[in-house]
Amino acid sequence: MAEEAAGWGGREAGEIFSACRLLFSDPAYMGRIQDMIRREQVSAEYGVFSVSEALFQEFCSMEEEYLRARSADIRDAELRLLRLLGDEAEGEVSPGPCILFAEELLPGDLLKLSPKDLLAVVTRQGSSLSHAAILARTMGIPAVTGIDLPQEAEGRLAAVEGDAGFVWLEPDQEKLSSLRKKQAESARETEELLALKDLPAVSKSGRRIRLYANIGGLSDLKEALSRGAEGVGLFRTEFLYLGRTAPPGEEEQFQIYRAAAEALRGKPLILRTFDIGADKQVSYLQQEREENPAMGYRGIRIGLDRPELLKPQLRAALRAGLYGNLSIMYPMITSIRELSGLRRLLREAEEELLQEGLPFRKGIRQGVMIETPAAAVTADLLIREADFFSIGTNDLTQYTYAADRQNHRLAGCGDPSREALLRLIRYTVKAAHKAGKEAAVCGELAADRSLTGFFLELGIDELSVSPGMLLPLRKGIREEA
Ligand code: PEP
Ligand code: MG
Repeated sequence: MAEEAAGWGGREAGEIFSACRLLFSDPAYMGRIQDMIRREQVSAEYGVFSVSEALFQEFCSMEEEYLRARSADIRDAELRLLRLLGDEAEGEVSPGPCILFAEELLPGDLLKLSPKDLLAVVTRQGSSLSHAAILARTMGIPAVTGIDLPQEAEGRLAAVEGDAGFVWLEPDQEKLSSLRKKQAESARETEELLALKDLPAVSKSGRRIRLYANIGGLSDLKEALSRGAEGVGLFRTEFLYLGRTAPPGEEEQFQIYRAAAEALRGKPLILRTFDIGADKQVSYLQQEREENPAMGYRGIRIGLDRPELLKPQLRAALRAGLYGNLSIMYPMITSIRELSGLRRLLREAEEELLQEGLPFRKGIRQGVMIETPAAAVTADLLIREADFFSIGTNDLTQYTYAADRQNHRLAGCGDPSREALLRLIRYTVKAAHKAGKEAAVCGELAADRSLTGFFLELGIDELSVSPGMLLPLRKGIREEA
């Protein structure tokens, strides 16, 4: 890991592992773990966990500040060891087609599993707006959250009705046949909807909206195109950064973005710069534990603070821009200052490529995601430096209503009419249109049929939704007055 880190971030990055290295060769740490495994016959994971916790507490209560701060190194070493042990275990298990029950699931965990083996996902923690749930939806896997997990579900028959959010353990024959009937009906409906895939999403009175897809990787693109996506309105590129020990390099990213742009054959592709952080943590960034990660060090905050991470992505996008209709967009913007900083970084990336003689797309379009109230209420200022807006209603909702999007108890809480949110959306779209630019919605609410009329009336230019929602939404728009 140290070598890999040194490869992308130089000597300094390699040295972030030095504390781990010391601990791993320290008998007071490793020796104690090994002793415990031998003497008490516990699993390796349990040994690592117990010894690390005890040592962590010891260090936390030390008087000297320097020693107290070392407790973070112990936590880090613990997490790394547990991750390595976990990764190894995963390699040995091949469960075959199954429903996954988990207390909590992070997008990185999901990415490690084979989608063809996952019939459904059920978790106790998280909500339909957690990124693991969004990712599952993008991959077409039913996901239900907020369920009290049954004890000993392993090996028993279960059924999941994703749309309704129901889970049955050992359903009887009657239930099973009624669920199978629903499943067949839904497959038939999808089949029928396919007839609409190339028809424009236009309401009866002639208002038209472009329908794009949200994707998490190249593998989602085929599905999106087969369901009539007119482009990709949100490529969540941070998924490329999860579940690995170092970030993907410029070349790797260039190949992926180029392949996506080419597969789209001239249809728009909007790459969002990595929105790492919150429920999308990566171990190699050495992030500190945060009290409120959703309001913490994430997205462009990391990118601006550590340009050595963001610049390779920008360079890859600029180079891939030659192979299709590609734009860049920035998440988690809260001020003009951040946007100017990002534009500056892009200019630097362009200058570097120019000097190195590497071909790239000049004048690439740069959009801003409106997902904080600060961005929405300054939309009129931001649009001066942005080519377009895309409204991320998942985060905009959580920050407007101070309601954690991961917390299923808060779903739809507070204000069912969403008046505050709709005002921010209206203000954002008007600011864009006044400046002669476009505004899209790419959060999950884009697919919410109860808002379709509102979006049409407002003149939203584009809605970007998970591939599975493209056809029902196209039908919905065509049925609107
Ligand atoms: C959003 O916040 O609405 C959004 C589209 O981004 P993400 O869900 O990845 O945070
Ligand atoms: Mg967001």
